[in-house]
Amino acid sequence: MTLDASCIFCKIVRGEIPSFKVYEDDKTLAFMDINPGNPGHCLAIPKFHSENIFTAPDEWVAATMATTRRIARAVQMTLMPYGMNIVQANGPGAKQSVMHLHVHVLPRGRDDGLLLNWGLKPGNMDEIKALAERIRANLPRN
Ligand code: AMP
Ligand code: ZN
Repeated sequence: MTLDASCIFCKIVRGEIPSFKVYEDDKTLAFMDINPGNPGHCLAIPKFHSENIFTAPDEWVAATMATTRRIARAVQMTLMPYGMNIVQANGPGAKQSVMHLHVHVLPRGRDDGLLLNWGLKPGNMDEIKALAERIRANLPRN
């Protein structure tokens, strides 16, 4: 596992800053986004510091996508959203704001007006915590 001392997501992996975890295994971590585009917005990351999809080794990308699908299924079961986007940004031009590879699991509401660059608006931490618990309860068994 290679982590970066100053990277905010590596700090979450190391437990140096708090997060609302929904899933963890030896290679990946999934947690709630604290500026949710919609309720239930989660992120899946590798426990390996790579900036983006271009530089991350295949095995870490594969593990991150498996975790993405796992939490997507749990979010789907928890919230039954109108739709769900799986989004991954590379570089400032794509509005990537955290330079550690991550995949967004983003539930959609009917006519929610959410644009691809949905902006960062802090969520209600009690609501986010409660949703993390509900999503964890719905994780698939395998
Ligand atoms: P992106 O803009 O695609 O790089 O996405 C980065 C995401 O990380 C944004 O949606 C932020 O809200 C989210 N984020 C940043 N810091 C934290 C944090 N400490 N805990 C949870 N989510 C975070
Ligand atoms: Zn990192």
